[in-house]
Amino acid sequence: MQTKNKIILLVISIISFTFFLITIDMIYNFRNYGIKSIDDKAKAIAKTVEHSLTSQMVSGVIDDRELFLSQLKNIPNIDKIWLSRGQKVIDMYGKGFNNEIPRDEVDKQVLKTGETKKIVNDKLFSQSTYRITIPYNATNKGKINCMSCHTNAQEGDTLGAISIEMSIDDSKQIGIRTITDTLLIASVLMVVIIILLNLIISPFLSLFDSIKRVMNKAQQGDYSYRIQNPKGKEAKDVALWINGLLEKLEITLEAIDSKISIFLSEHHKVTDKDHLINVKNTVDRLSDVYKFRKTIEYDETIDDVYNRLAEVLKIKIGITKFNFFEVSTLTNEINLVHSEAKVICNIIEEGCRADRTNTTIDSTQFRNICSSCTSCEKTNYFCVPYAISNELDLIVSIYTDTVNQTIEVREMIPYIQDYVDAAKTVIISKKLMNILEHNAQTDALTGLKNRKYLEDAIPNITSQTKRSGIAYGVLLLDIDFFKMVNDTYGHDIGDNAIKIVSQTLNENIRESDTAVRYGGEEFIVLLYNCDEKGAMNVAEKIRENFAKKEIPTGGTTILQKTMSIGVSMFPEDTEDLEEAIKYSDLALYKAKNSGRNKVIRFNKSFL
Ligand code: GH3
Ligand code: MG
Ligand code: MG
Repeated sequence: MQTKNKIILLVISIISFTFFLITIDMIYNFRNYGIKSIDDKAKAIAKTVEHSLTSQMVSGVIDDRELFLSQLKNIPNIDKIWLSRGQKVIDMYGKGFNNEIPRDEVDKQVLKTGETKKIVNDKLFSQSTYRITIPYNATNKGKINCMSCHTNAQEGDTLGAISIEMSIDDSKQIGIRTITDTLLIASVLMVVIIILLNLIISPFLSLFDSIKRVMNKAQQGDYSYRIQNPKGKEAKDVALWINGLLEKLEITLEAIDSKISIFLSEHHKVTDKDHLINVKNTVDRLSDVYKFRKTIEYDETIDDVYNRLAEVLKIKIGITKFNFFEVSTLTNEINLVHSEAKVICNIIEEGCRADRTNTTIDSTQFRNICSSCTSCEKTNYFCVPYAISNELDLIVSIYTDTVNQTIEVREMIPYIQDYVDAAKTVIISKKLMNILEHNAQTDALTGLKNRKYLEDAIPNITSQTKRSGIAYGVLLLDIDFFKMVNDTYGHDIGDNAIKIVSQTLNENIRESDTAVRYGGEEFIVLLYNCDEKGAMNVAEKIRENFAKKEIPTGGTTILQKTMSIGVSMFPEDTEDLEEAIKYSDLALYKAKNSGRNKVIRFNKSFL
């Protein structure tokens, strides 16, 4: 129902209800007033009759009362009037010439109780009457002593009663007329109010209806609706403001929505037809991605960055089983860089199809699509390649148990893309940092760790050993008479000899050991978790194997060299690793001075 009709209906209802109450009140009051005035009249007549009869009685003309009573009937509105004698009067004076005995139960009741009785006989369409029966009680207190004539009566006895029946139609007629007039006034008032409502509030109400319709559409995300044909100056002003505002909103939100979504990955540009909701969603996503990006910028290592990306996948995107692989586009080398699930394919040995084809590989669309995946019967895999730089790709391999889970994962790919995009530059910079750090700690000629690496590592090794108590054998190696090689064959051949040393070291030590090119042709080897006997054995093995190696000279000459090695034990000899290196140096010095090509264990006497 239109608002206007609602208001009109409400006003009519209120007015009708008010007039209904007024009418009820008037009917009630008119009735009461009518009865009251008739009642007063009846009482006056009763008194008059009483006084007349008494006077007639005293003056001895009581027998003439017939005339008097019949004249009473001529009083307007009096329909009937009659007297009834009480038993004591009948006993003394008889029933009278008019047989004045009680005519009905009411007369008897009044004569018995001495109390006035009133009966109202209301009828809407026929005559309404009022009947009152008033007792005449004996008293000796007035001017006339009743008991002087009624000698058999006592004070308070009911000597007789007068009954008067009167029409109350006059007051009923007045009441009905008043009510009709009131209803007429009410109807006229209602018509006037409806006309006024129509004239005054109609433009506002139709404006309100238009605003409601337009705002409802805007609330649903459609800002293209406008308020049409407003009536009246004020309504036109309001329509102009609202239409202008909607126009601005429509244009601005559409522009913001299309521009802001550029910052996110392609697939999720349009999600809702309400641009405002799109803008809010986009800003939420951008803000999350921005916070992620700011956080990883302050992460120390690339592992931290991958950990955080994994957190996003788990917490924000809801993916639980996945692995990250780095692929070098130059060497095709693949490394597992973060793991949240068992690796189910031979990606490292056999390569990655997702990376090779640069497309998403989804096993729910083609079973066994990837040949390197040999144990994937029960698990679905979904592998997405992301280009981080020209040299580096990141493969996100996601595993699911059901096809529905894979469908959900597919939906979330643009979100993962946003975070990977945000992480790209950070991953590249961390990679470059790693390369720089690696280069700064690596010897270019041999690929072994350099002296800087050792110096940086000493505090870590020292504190680790203090905690674990795990011992190191410390070997210091130096080629014997190396200067001669340079002098005889030149520096390049000398470099070859140095490379052969590094090769020998790599062949004779374990993964957990550390070989360092300490100086020109001096090397340090830290043998992890090694006792004295083991250290001496490894040193001896290195010395012997090196002596057997041929150093390439570029010609036919066979060049072989020997080396001397000093050995100390850390923390057995000293709890200071730098001091242990010094002790190895002292032992090396001993080896050089006692004929070279030998291994000497440090001894306190060397100090
Ligand atoms: P010793 O048996 O006493 O060790 O005699 P040595 O000749 O080996 O003497 P020393 O250990 O002092 O040798 C130092 C020489 O090593 C000096 C330098 O010519 C050579 N050398 C140092 N660094 C390099 C390098 O990077 N390449 C080459 N080719 N030679 C180097
Ligand atoms: Mg030397
Ligand atoms: Mg030397």
